Amino acid sequence: MRIAIIGFGAAAIGFIESLKESNHEIHVFEKSKDIYSTSISGIRADGKLFVSEAMGGDIEIDIRLQQQMVKFWMEAVDEHSVEKGHSFTNRKYFNSFYEKGFLPVTSDFYHLGTDQLKKVLYHIYENFKKLKHVHFHFQQKIENIQVKNDKVLVNEEDEFDKVYVAVGRSGHGLVKKIINEYPELIQDNTKVDLGIRYELPDHIVEDLNREMYEFKVKYKSRTGYMVRTFCNNPSGFVVTENYGDFVTVNGHANHKKKSHNTNFAVLTTVQLTEPFNDPVGYGSHIAKLSNILAGQDKVILQTYDHFKRSKRTKNLYRVLPTLDENAFIMGDVNLAYPRRIIESIIDFIENLEEVIPGIANPDNLVYAPEIKFYSNRINNDHFDQLKFMGDCSGATRSITYATGHGYMMGKQLK
Ligand SMILES: Cc1cc2nc3c(=O)[nH]c(=O)nc-3n(C[C@H](O)[C@H](O)[C@H](O)COP(=O)(O)OP(=O)(O)OC[C@H]3O[C@@H](n4cnc5c(N)ncnc54)[C@H](O)[C@@H]3O)c2cc1C
Repeated sequence: MRIAIIGFGAAAIGFIESLKESNHEIHVFEKSKDIYSTSISGIRADGKLFVSEAMGGDIEIDIRLQQQMVKFWMEAVDEHSVEKGHSFTNRKYFNSFYEKGFLPVTSDFYHLGTDQLKKVLYHIYENFKKLKHVHFHFQQKIENIQVKNDKVLVNEEDEFDKVYVAVGRSGHGLVKKIINEYPELIQDNTKVDLGIRYELPDHIVEDLNREMYEFKVKYKSRTGYMVRTFCNNPSGFVVTENYGDFVTVNGHANHKKKSHNTNFAVLTTVQLTEPFNDPVGYGSHIAKLSNILAGQDKVILQTYDHFKRSKRTKNLYRVLPTLDENAFIMGDVNLAYPRRIIESIIDFIENLEEVIPGIANPDNLVYAPEIKFYSNRINNDHFDQLKFMGDCSGATRSITYATGHGYMMGKQLK
């Protein structure tokens, strides 16, 4: 069979890995210039792999397959040097959060680090390149996909028996085009995660960082919204993420170069009902509003005390930001965020203070906007010859799940 994969990220990697020994002619089209390009894949920052049934995507991926995927990634790391952790396997920590109303999420973590990721991706690519039936085409942005009888036409000229779209989130333009043409592919699109990135000195969360590297908890706030921690980075750095027409915050940690601060996201899941059908539009407008207040391409920084009291921050005290000083303006997040979101976040942090003293210190730092978009959930049963895998399918949100999804898709083909 002649197969095209659009995008070379985690899902494509899982897919090719599962078809290493097949006879299918596989063509990979990737819009980035080459494997070293900073625009390639979501696998270029942080690289925290986790094994969990409770997070990472909305599909079931067997724990053994998740472990196999993590092993595959770790084998591509020089000397297999990674930081590891287990969240909430220790009953003492589980109970202390549970008692105060939190839902602890159990998982195993393996942190590769931003500084190691480039090489990891390169090693994997070099191995795949040796396969005679796999052909890489870089600098090939796919703009158009059309189903023609039992074939699929790519960029109006190249015909394939099957096409696997694996463009992640950065490929939302292509997915939007496809679903405009085939709206019956959409299963669900009502969710968006809005929140902040929170930063505080390492010593406040030292025990938790040492014990589990990443503590993931959920909490039903008094507003009714579910709030959760996401992407904890011990001794990490806050960075901005440019979406083209707006900028958000994110966090990461290196394997070697460390800071003295820990950062993590506090996210509120907003799920709206009909006639609402544009979660990306909703989230983007809030992000743009924050950027307007902060000045072009900048985000807002505020102390936690001022965030609570809706007061503009003008000075900092003991906690200094790890984000580049040219990337933020000190301001007031309350001018951009809906009240219910702010109240949910404050309720979450105040309750967390009861478990981790110092979490709600007035001079801890709040950055906004932090937004996580969910891709439309795609119905993969609709076409036999056109499939979506990884984050662009709406079924995954992590490296482990995207790789696993690609792997399972490949296995189904055999
Ligand atoms: C900054 C950042 C940090 C992250 N950190 C973590 C983490 O620590 N742990 C974790 O589990 N997850 C993390 N994620 C999420 C994770 O990267 C994704 O869940 C995962 O990479 C999804 O895999 P994918 O194959 O679906 O897409 P991707 O890995 O994003 O790959 C998609 C590829 O498609 C290409 N592409 C897009 N459009 C086109 C087109 N039209 N034509 C051709 N090629 C195209 C892109 O260039 C890209 O290389 C992070 C994401 C980001 C953005």
